[in-house]
Amino acid sequence: MSTNIEWTDQTENIIRAKEGGWWCHKKSEGCTNCYAEKLNKNSFFGGNKQPYSGQPPELVLDTEAIRKWGFQRKPKKHFVSSMTDVFGEWVPRFWQHEMLDGMFVAPNQIFQILTKRPEIMLSSMDEWLSCHGLDKLPLNIWPGTSIENRRTLEERSQFLAQIPALIRFWSVEPLLEDLGDITQYLNDVQLVIVGGESGPNSRPCHIEWLESIVQQCHAAKTPVFVKQLGANAIFGGQRFKTRNKKGGDIEEFPQELQVREFPVPVRE
Ligand code: SF4
Repeated sequence: MSTNIEWTDQTENIIRAKEGGWWCHKKSEGCTNCYAEKLNKNSFFGGNKQPYSGQPPELVLDTEAIRKWGFQRKPKKHFVSSMTDVFGEWVPRFWQHEMLDGMFVAPNQIFQILTKRPEIMLSSMDEWLSCHGLDKLPLNIWPGTSIENRRTLEERSQFLAQIPALIRFWSVEPLLEDLGDITQYLNDVQLVIVGGESGPNSRPCHIEWLESIVQQCHAAKTPVFVKQLGANAIFGGQRFKTRNKKGGDIEEFPQELQVREFPVPVRE
């Protein structure tokens, strides 16, 4: 599906509810205003109205969508499962492995897999690698974790860092507080995406917090991608208003935040 997420080309939701819509389970502060849950609560967008809490509905894996990856000619970046967490506790491990198999046979496509549960991603990917006799993920599979504050930075970055991959990424969105000194973590990540929260009831994101991350990434030579300032951006203690509702127009960013880099893939 085409998308307005700036750091990918298309989203693919390979895990869906059997009766329509999607499901996920809220995990941390970053999930409070989950856009996927909002869409799922609206039948107009194909949702099933279930909240992202409680027990999952019956789910299905879209094996046909996975099979098609191997036949795509035009190279694209695929954000796999924007409406759920494919490494959720409720997702069968063999589904995760079937997804990785599909990615493995589509080496000209890039797959960006984002989780708030990198400890599960680590153990599932380790298992998959050992089943295939591999010591590292192929270059086209980018494992990533969401980070929203210092607690999730400390907790999640350590698991992501252990995944044997050539490109690992963070999605620091919604950024909910100043992350402080992140230098020690930057050696283990090859792309940092940052952004403030968008949508109704957006929590504030201070432009100074974004600037600090961008400066530290530049100093460490880690590619950084500023996705958006968010709908409630603050600068110097005042609201920083943008014409774009989510603060996603790069031309409205302060000069030093006008940066959207990607890692240069290096084959080994
Ligand atoms: S992990 Fe993502 S999709 Fe799932 S509830 Fe949290 S924000 Fe929503």
